Amino acid sequence: MSELRYAIIGAGPSGLSAARALQKAGIDFDGYEASRGVGGLWDIENPRSTMYESAHLISSRTTTEFAEFPMDTDADYPSHRTLIRYFRDFADRFRLTERFRFETKVTSLTRDDDGEWMLRADSPDGPLDERYDGVILANGTLAEPNVPTFRGEFTGELLHTSAYKAASQLAGKRVLIIGAGNSGCDIAVDAVHHASSVDMSVRRGYYFVPRYLFGKPSDTLNQGRPLPARIKQFVDKRVLQAFTGDPVRFGFPKPDYRLYESHPIVNTLILNHLGQGDLRIRPDVDRFDGRTVHFRDGSRGEYDLVLLATGYTLDYPFVDREALHWTGWSPKLFLNVFPPSFNGLYVMGMIEASGIGWQGRYEQAELIAEYLAALERAPERAAEFRRRATGEPWPDLTGGYRYLGLERMSYYVNKDAYRRAVRAATTALRGDARDAAPGRGIRSSRRRSKKVPA
Ligand SMILES: Cc1cc2nc3c(=O)[nH]c(=O)nc-3n(C[C@H](O)[C@H](O)[C@H](O)COP(=O)(O)OP(=O)(O)OC[C@H]3O[C@@H](n4cnc5c(N)ncnc54)[C@H](O)[C@@H]3O)c2cc1C
Repeated sequence: MSELRYAIIGAGPSGLSAARALQKAGIDFDGYEASRGVGGLWDIENPRSTMYESAHLISSRTTTEFAEFPMDTDADYPSHRTLIRYFRDFADRFRLTERFRFETKVTSLTRDDDGEWMLRADSPDGPLDERYDGVILANGTLAEPNVPTFRGEFTGELLHTSAYKAASQLAGKRVLIIGAGNSGCDIAVDAVHHASSVDMSVRRGYYFVPRYLFGKPSDTLNQGRPLPARIKQFVDKRVLQAFTGDPVRFGFPKPDYRLYESHPIVNTLILNHLGQGDLRIRPDVDRFDGRTVHFRDGSRGEYDLVLLATGYTLDYPFVDREALHWTGWSPKLFLNVFPPSFNGLYVMGMIEASGIGWQGRYEQAELIAEYLAALERAPERAAEFRRRATGEPWPDLTGGYRYLGLERMSYYVNKDAYRRAVRAATTALRGDARDAAPGRGIRSSRRRSKKVPA
């Protein structure tokens, strides 16, 4: 067992990944979880969970599960109930549950002069203080609602998707959903069966990917060597046109960006319902006035409930922003994990990507574990890793896609480019490959984005 001791904050898929990787590497740690048990947002009873009753996996089972722990179901897109069981089984199987203190919320992290981190938490037995050599932050990215401001005031019910749990909340109401992300579209499908009317207001066009293509879960196709971005965009756009047609037909604006430059919507039920006349697409909101919503094209509608499907914002409230090198909308971290000051904080799960799954998150954890092991057992390799992270251009994690300059896309990565870079860095730290340094063999560049946040 290591001499150094670490804390892990959060027992969701990312925190469990970290716990498992540290356990395998023989590194000592304590876990802290604010909720009653493991599973993160997949536990609908977790007060921070943004799960809802009708939710299922969006990525398919085989591309999402941990490689060493296949899911015990035949469903391609199991429901959140199956998933919370899966995480509980995973944590029990590897004896990770006992490594976490539950109902213990971390309230602050401060670094003392000798570089140790002082962790403060509220536990059922009162406040506690512990010192650690480093802390892994795995407190989730989809918990803190992003609530835009609108002109005027809406006097009906205003709800963010984070507070949406079940379709009964919509029963008999005239509902306007603002935003068409994956949650927004799932909830629109719930709404058509329960609300008295459903409208959806969108600012931009979207690409809709069916759950099945050629009889298989769509994300299981094209699993081999990734195609270059432009070719994949060309081919997949035509496949989508053949299977789902043109969403403009149903009232969506034409996307002013290419496929995969923003997160695609894996839901075509919404298009079926649009085709059946069960809901309507409306333009961007101009202002609220009582129960009336005025839209940018001069039209308006009357609503009882406005549901904001406007996404989430990153939040690490217990630690100084400087310690995480916040730049604009998100911390600027090497491989989305390491603050460039290498101050003993490590961030897990701060990746948005199409189809990275829990195995992708586990690979992040393996990299952290390998670095922590090197700190004690091969300090020269750890030093070389830091030198590359601070002295060389960072690997290009975009896979050649020009992501939209949106808040959510500020920490978006291409799953293939990301996993390749993380594996190369892990291999280099292990010292079992001569030529696998982080970024080596990978085109390095500044992050390519259409708009760089201030
Ligand atoms: C409806 C929905 C569908 C999704 N579908 C998919 C999918 O198909 N595929 C996919 O890969 N991803 C999907 N996701 C994304 C999802 O975020 C990840 O699957 C995964 O849950 C991320 O794990 P995490 O551990 O990083 O965060 P979380 O699951 O959010 O876990 C974070 C944990 O940290 C705890 N915590 C927070 N603050 C503190 C604190 N201060 N002290 C102690 N504990 C704290 C929380 O209680 C929570 O348990 C979906 C998300 C939603 C909402």
